Amino acid sequence: MKILVTGGAGFIGSAVVRQAIRDGHSVVNVDALTYAACLENVASVVDAQGYTFEQVDIRNRVALDTVFARHAPDAVMHLAAESHVDRSIDGPGDFIETNITGTYNMLEAARSYWVGQGKPDSFRFHHISTDEVFGSLPADESVQFTEDTAYDPRSPYSASKAASDHLVRAWSETYGLPVVMTNCSNNYGPYHFPEKLVPVVILNALAGKPLPIYGDGSNVRDWLYVEDHADALLTVLEKGTVGRSYNIGGENELSNLELVKMLCAILDELRPHQNGSYADLITFVADRPGHDARYAIDPSRIRNELGWRPSLTVHEGLRKTVQWYLDNETWWRPLQARAGVGQRLGQDADKAVKGTGS
Ligand code: NAD
Repeated sequence: MKILVTGGAGFIGSAVVRQAIRDGHSVVNVDALTYAACLENVASVVDAQGYTFEQVDIRNRVALDTVFARHAPDAVMHLAAESHVDRSIDGPGDFIETNITGTYNMLEAARSYWVGQGKPDSFRFHHISTDEVFGSLPADESVQFTEDTAYDPRSPYSASKAASDHLVRAWSETYGLPVVMTNCSNNYGPYHFPEKLVPVVILNALAGKPLPIYGDGSNVRDWLYVEDHADALLTVLEKGTVGRSYNIGGENELSNLELVKMLCAILDELRPHQNGSYADLITFVADRPGHDARYAIDPSRIRNELGWRPSLTVHEGLRKTVQWYLDNETWWRPLQARAGVGQRLGQDADKAVKGTGS
């Protein structure tokens, strides 16, 4: 199959590209190369037969039409997005433009191409989204997000992703575009951009810097190893029912404090230092405005209908991740110099109205 992957130079998109090539698919990687992109993420497949890269911004409809016409894909996996919640608090504009208008452009470019091809039933538009669209759960562990949970996004990021999900459903219902949709929990793993919690904790610990925990660290997330996510996404693309959405989770709920302590214990084992535990560096900082209390995924649908389950526990996945960061300083060191990385973002909700716009 020839798959057009958007955002394939980012964290999850690059895992999808690497696995799709390993599985024998052809890939057209469409990415604007924003601050969050890194072509090193796909260096292992760049010479593979069937891999092509197109530097295109999904806000540019004309350029998207050209890409569809040039490559004639069998399927689209749409991951390109602005993805950092803290940045969405400081500057929501890019999130509206890329996540909503960009998805609209992708849908229209795909629809125009699909109609031009005679509306093949086999075509797929796979929209990749987040569990954050469902809002925040109470601490009661028996409640989880299902595919029928009402949307209740709280941050500019999750609201922009919710809007994009609605557009995709509308294009399926209204125009008959053959879509599948997924909503996933928090990912971690190799090539995670060093502004997100897991790499920040690993890299700050190695540098002897404070390990920032928002609020009291009680916020609960379900953690999924990124290569398991890529595997689930390709499973949904190949076996998912048209028009259906699938929640993807790691079956690994942890509070942020538990997660950071687990990372510290792994670091103590893999890179011990003489001055005690890395956990001594844990520092509680002011909470993120509107910080959702808990996300948890009910994975029954993807497990029962498509036979998919994550392959790693969170401890196994975090151990592999820590080892990867220890082995790949040449990847992460240059990224730390990019704008905003290493700074506390998204703390001042009033900053957005001062209008940075970026
Ligand atoms: P990322 O920020 O690491 O990568 C995003 C990629 O999209 C980058 O390569 C960037 O250059 C590209 N991009 C951004 N704007 C673009 C534009 N206008 N045109 C073309 N390319 C553009 O993000 P990620 O963490 O890999 O997330 C990928 C997708 O998965 C997103 O849609 C996100 O909402 C979703 N998701 C992420 C998580 C998570 O834990 N990271 C969880 C669930 C869902």
